[in-house]
Amino acid sequence: MPSEFELIARHFVRPVGPRTRLGVGDDCAILAPEPGQELLVSTDMLVCGTHFLADDDPAGLGWKTAAVNLSDIAAMGGTPRWITLALALPTIDEAWVAALADGFAACCARYDVDWVGGDTTRGPLTLSATVFGEAPRGTAIRRDGAGAGDDIWISGRPGLAALGLAQRLGQLELAADWRATCLQALARPEPRVQLGLALRGVATAMQDVSDGLAGDLGHILARSGCGAQLDEASLPLGPALAACDSAACARRALLQGGDDYELVFTAPASARARLDALAGELALPLHRIGRCVEERGLWLVQHDGAQAPLTPRGFDHFGAEADTGGAAPA
Ligand code: ADP
Ligand code: MG
Repeated sequence: MPSEFELIARHFVRPVGPRTRLGVGDDCAILAPEPGQELLVSTDMLVCGTHFLADDDPAGLGWKTAAVNLSDIAAMGGTPRWITLALALPTIDEAWVAALADGFAACCARYDVDWVGGDTTRGPLTLSATVFGEAPRGTAIRRDGAGAGDDIWISGRPGLAALGLAQRLGQLELAADWRATCLQALARPEPRVQLGLALRGVATAMQDVSDGLAGDLGHILARSGCGAQLDEASLPLGPALAACDSAACARRALLQGGDDYELVFTAPASARARLDALAGELALPLHRIGRCVEERGLWLVQHDGAQAPLTPRGFDHFGAEADTGGAAPA
């Protein structure tokens, strides 16, 4: 069995760019942020039995550990630059660690992020990453900037990851031609880094959807001190509906399902043409699904115009529904 130090040297030392003066191997990494930039920092942890299962594909787990962290930087309109990975391993299975490290490094390479350090220790299987990003001073997009009258937008095809999870837990049987797409959405989410950057100066508030659209939008509303109406007719239910063939199931996956790591954001009506064009430029759907209102609360405006309150509840690790069989959102 390799020692901790052999493991580090063989699998965790990866090429770094010029923004990293010193990477893995010393007591600290030395990072060189650009002048005029603010640092954005975030940590996300994945615990075996809570967020994933011991027999999950390690390369996918490595990718996802990096991706969910990068997603937090994307959600602020920042550029992810550096990341560290803290690993607790019950035993050293070197093939498993190698695959995990390759998956993690692949996501870092895809988004030009330097893997600059971490920690490796014996313990219950846990993966925790800390990501550092940059944004020009004062430009990061926070949750507290939405105002009544702003449009509400969501990127991508939200709901597919939740359907992938339901399939994995044996709760439903997805259409054969959608199964791989949904499982991929769950196992290898793409952090919306380019979209986040393009929304600087456009979005008034933003966050990534890890715990369900209704709940995560609820965080924006709470921080911004306003409410929202979502239009049922505008919800992008098509892909989820095609995958699971049940309107109720697709709706729940979209509104309550997490793990897609799409971005939900608010923007003034004057940005509509810009955002429609941006969707084309990024080849990423952007859906305008509702608007912010003065009155606190979250409502779904149904096809007949009637308004139904929506519970702005996402996944809560300590809530009554927190027994996930090892698949809670990170
Ligand atoms: P220290 O004893 O100072 O905490 P360690 O012996 O834990 O340092 O780690 C040695 C070097 O290996 C450090 O540069 C650390 O950042 C790096 N390292 C340890 N674990 C990992 C990991 N999982 N990923 C990347 N680098 C790691
Ligand atoms: Mg030291």
